[in-house]
This record gives sequence, C-alpha cells and structure tokens, in this order.
Amino acid sequence: MMDWFEIRQVNRDLWMIVEPGHVVSWLYLGSDSAALIDSGTGIAPIRPVVEKLTRLPIKLINTHYHFDHVGGNAEFAVRLAGAQAEAPLRRHAPRDLLKRYIDGLLPLIADAEAQRAADADVMALTPELALRPFPAGFDAESWRPGGVAATGLLREGDEIDLGDRRLQVIETPGHSPDGISLFDPAHGVLFVGDTLTEGALYAHYDESSLDDLAVSVGKLTRLPAPVHAICAGHVARAIAEVSLIAETEAALKQVASGAPYRQGQDIFGYGLRETRHGRVWVYHSDGRASSFPLHD
Ligand SMILES: [Zn+2]
Repeated sequence: MMDWFEIRQVNRDLWMIVEPGHVVSWLYLGSDSAALIDSGTGIAPIRPVVEKLTRLPIKLINTHYHFDHVGGNAEFAVRLAGAQAEAPLRRHAPRDLLKRYIDGLLPLIADAEAQRAADADVMALTPELALRPFPAGFDAESWRPGGVAATGLLREGDEIDLGDRRLQVIETPGHSPDGISLFDPAHGVLFVGDTLTEGALYAHYDESSLDDLAVSVGKLTRLPAPVHAICAGHVARAIAEVSLIAETEAALKQVASGAPYRQGQDIFGYGLRETRHGRVWVYHSDGRASSFPLHD
C-alpha cells in the first residue's frame, strides 16, 4: 500500500515530509538537535517517519496553529510556537471545518482527472504527489487535530539553537494572527508556513489581516542575510524560488489598490475574492460575514 507521506531529501540537512495535496512539514537537522517545522494533518502519525530520518532530539516548531500544521503535535515532547498561538493551540479544530475539508477532498481522491483540474498547478500534483487514499485505520469522525498546548512560546528575535545552526524567529502574522517564520541566516534557509505560497494565498479568514500580511512580507524582503531557499507549507516542491517574496509583496499591493478580482471559493467551499498576480493568488474577504471559526 502506498505510504501516506512522500519523503524527499533536499540536501544533507533538509528533508521535506509531504502529505501530497495537503501540506508539507520540514525537517531541518543541526549537529545537536533537529527542528521539525510543523507536524502535518495528523491523518497518519508523523513521528515514526521523522525517527527514520534522524536520531537527533526533535524540537517541533509550529509556524501557526491551523489544523493542517499541528495534527501531530501530541507526538512530540518539545513543542514551540509563536506567542500568539498559545490560546488557539489549546483548542481543537471545529468538527464542521474538518468535515468540509474531508468532503471537499473525497471526490478529488477518487478522480485523478478532477484532481488535476482543481489543482491547476497550485500544488504541482505530479503523479507521485497526487492525493492518496486515506490510510487504513484513519477515522475521519474521530480525527480532531489541535488541543495540544505549546511547551514554549517564541517571540520576534528569539533563536532556536540546533547546534551548528540557529533559527531566528520572525513574527509574520496576516494569514493567521499567530504566524511565525524561521530563518537560518548562515545558510539562507527560510521557513514561512502559509505566509508565502505559490497559488492560493489564504488571507480571507475573519482572523486574517491583509495589512498585517503586507507588513510581514515586507519584513521578509529585509532579512539580515540573503535568502537562498524558501520552504513553504503547501507548495509540494522542494524549494520555492526566492522571487516569491517580491511577487507576493506586489500581489498584496494590487489588492490594496483595488485591482480587479474574481469570485472564488476555498477548499472548504467558502466564497471569497481572488486577485491574481503572477504565481500568487491572494484570497481575500468578499466583505460579507463569510467567516467561519477555525478553532473551537
Ligand atoms: Zn494556515
């Protein structure tokens, strides 16, 4: 049977752990410990996968609290997250949201053609990165990611010591209020969670802020060292091109200037406004009370 995870080694110290069509978690190895950036959907356990790749002690770092990035949190003893994530991490994702997510995916899992049409290059769903059947034993009814408190909170400028490399914490709210990015200035590796993505950049939730997102992306254009690689939460490619930062900044300026948009829909079936600029499609609110709770 096909594994739930697709594992790819980017270089000696960096692995991507992909749940194809869902999310990417990243494993970054230092000399003393390893950082696991996000813990996936929780649809299958992620720790056994990580332990096959390294024997180093693991520091889990959540880029933000959304259910598809925290599903495996309970599997790890060290759990770090942005200070603003403290309260939401304690809560579960609402059942209704999860049901909408699964219901939206099931027809795509069943139909590769529909999957390709819906993907439209967003997640680069090549055959080996196509959506996979849910693993045996997965029970969508009892699937309830979230509800696991952080063991340590991170703030702007904090550093996470992995031994021969360090990750600097950059607060990047906007997609969600608690978003953080992590930057290794010595190696130019930047982990951004959902702050940057090719394709649909979700900024239409009630809790999202286009203004905050613009400030956050602006910060990423002024990092203290050159960026060589962007590791994003949903682009199922090894590394996003660095020009994605400037492209996202330009896309957000388009939205702020009232550029034309089209009506769109997110994976949960909620309506939104979509402004496309190059590779970045900004999802923003249609102004109605479109919002829905992301945690209980
Ligand atoms: Zn998110």
